[in-house]
Amino acid sequence: MQEERHGFQAEVGRLLDIVAHSLYSDRSVFLRELVSNASDACDKLRYLAITRPELAAEDAQFRVVITPEAAAKTLTIADNGIGMNREELVANLGTIARSGTAAFLKEATGDTSKDISLIGQFGVGFYAAFMVAERVEVFSRRAGETQGWRWVSDGKGEFAVAAAEDVARGTRIVLHLREDAGEFLEPLRLKTIIARYSDHVSLPILLKTEGKEEKLNEAAALWMRPKSEITERQYAEFYRHVSHGFDEPRLTIHWRAEGKIDYTALLFVPRSRPLDLFNPDRKHRVKLYVRRVFITDDCADILPGYLRFLQGIVDSEDLPLSISREMLQHNPLLAKIRAALVKRSLSELAKLAEKEPESYADFWKDFGPVLKEGLYEDQEQRETLLKLARFRSTYGEGLVSLADYVGRMKPGQEAIYYLSGESVEAAARSPQLEGFAARGVEVLLLADPVDEFWIPNVGAYDAKPFKSATRGGAELDKIELSEEKKQAQEPQPAGTDALIAMLRLALQDAVKDVRASSRLDTSAVCLVADEGDMDIHLERLLKQHRQLDNASKRVLEVNPRHPLIAGLAKRLSQNGSAEEVTEAAWLLLDQARIVQGEPVADPVAFARRLDATLLKAIA
Ligand code: ADP
Ligand code: MG
Repeated sequence: MQEERHGFQAEVGRLLDIVAHSLYSDRSVFLRELVSNASDACDKLRYLAITRPELAAEDAQFRVVITPEAAAKTLTIADNGIGMNREELVANLGTIARSGTAAFLKEATGDTSKDISLIGQFGVGFYAAFMVAERVEVFSRRAGETQGWRWVSDGKGEFAVAAAEDVARGTRIVLHLREDAGEFLEPLRLKTIIARYSDHVSLPILLKTEGKEEKLNEAAALWMRPKSEITERQYAEFYRHVSHGFDEPRLTIHWRAEGKIDYTALLFVPRSRPLDLFNPDRKHRVKLYVRRVFITDDCADILPGYLRFLQGIVDSEDLPLSISREMLQHNPLLAKIRAALVKRSLSELAKLAEKEPESYADFWKDFGPVLKEGLYEDQEQRETLLKLARFRSTYGEGLVSLADYVGRMKPGQEAIYYLSGESVEAAARSPQLEGFAARGVEVLLLADPVDEFWIPNVGAYDAKPFKSATRGGAELDKIELSEEKKQAQEPQPAGTDALIAMLRLALQDAVKDVRASSRLDTSAVCLVADEGDMDIHLERLLKQHRQLDNASKRVLEVNPRHPLIAGLAKRLSQNGSAEEVTEAAWLLLDQARIVQGEPVADPVAFARRLDATLLKAIA
């Protein structure tokens, strides 16, 4: 058959560009990637061979052989795993399948140094070969097929595929090393690299020199070894193997359960937040094994979505080896394992929170928004998750827990107050907070979209209801002002009630009501949602997502002690004109809207009123 030429997918082109600019200061990671792929390929065939033993029959001792050939300047990595046929070679080695990587590369800026540091968290997989090779040949034959294939590329935009004879089952990758990559021909150097990167790989890795093979690793599943015999470094390498990442684990959780159900789990919380954490296609990265045999990395039921940042493996002693991926759905044993994984992971996080609050706070900044999804998804863990939750608040810069908050509640305060906004900073600027500040009442500042969903669902913590600071009549009057404020507080000026009645009349249907506010201190007006109406921020969020057409009407709260409001009240009582109040009413409403970050209803009318008012002031 003729050689066929193909262009790489555009994203691969970009990736190869980044790789060529030497992605990693340490180029030896190419070996990690290739050995990792070889090990995955053997895992896949081992799984298929459970039901179709003939697939692996001709050569059932899975292994990876690494052969340096100094004269030819080649380094060969060969496995006897599942192999690839023509279509698979084209698809797998011509495109990027991993959703996160592909998405990232689509948006890559072209600023190579920046791209490099970001792409680092994905790993570049097979394409890392081009860091050290000027040409890469891949010979592969798929298990169960007779025809072998040769793929070749110099990593510059194109690759070619052709039929090849005498190809063994599995994949043999021949790297024609670059002039400056001669170090990867030295057996000693290779041994050191393999010891470092692949010690955890559970199949033998052999170095072949002068016809002799030498086994370089223990070839036993890392997770089955006693914890005391595993070094930090081995854990970290294993983490990078399962996560395809280049960072360190933030937290390593390794345990064996024996008794009703027997399994071993080795889970990691990553150090850096994966770019695709909120990508709906993102799968969690926990691989399922049964008695050391890899079954799948696509078992949606093994962990709930709110723990999707966890990576690692679970190895069950009890599930049948021949279990199909479909059978895993709704499997009662798996459900038990899942419950145990959840419980253990959360309790490890709680331990971290207690022992190392600072590193827990870092964790929370990256993964808190994901974990909070559990507050409405998982009734059973709700209390635990509420204890784990951290918030920004008006108390200060750091994060606070709900227990901290409750401990600081003021006499007469019955609710846990929160205020949501686009960002914590925006929320912190809200005028609605003034009355709380004047009473020393802490308010949680929320800025994650998920907050709008769990709060109504959860309702209360420690029997204290959550209450939006921008909704409902403020029971703030029940809480005493700080001493300083009390001293300065003047009685509500006479005429306030008449002014409010007048404002109501002027604004009519534009607002739900006009009320005197205890929520305000230095501002004249603000908007709030009526008790039972939707929170203002939530409503805006829903409108942005076109989930909501009609906005509910707001209550305009006025601060009776503000000079402007007091002045208007006085003017009115001294027979000021109704027209004057009407103009002022609309200006006040528009002002409240602007402060709230909402557009004014009629910008032209607003400008006209403002002009008129300014003119009067300079007259
Ligand atoms: P990843 O391993 O994250 O999927 P890679 O770039 O390392 O990404 O590899 C891309 C794909 O190529 C793999 O998913 C696999 O399907 C295929 N592949 C790579 N190496 C081998 C191999 N040695 N044997 C079989 N398939 C392989
Ligand atoms: Mg890979």
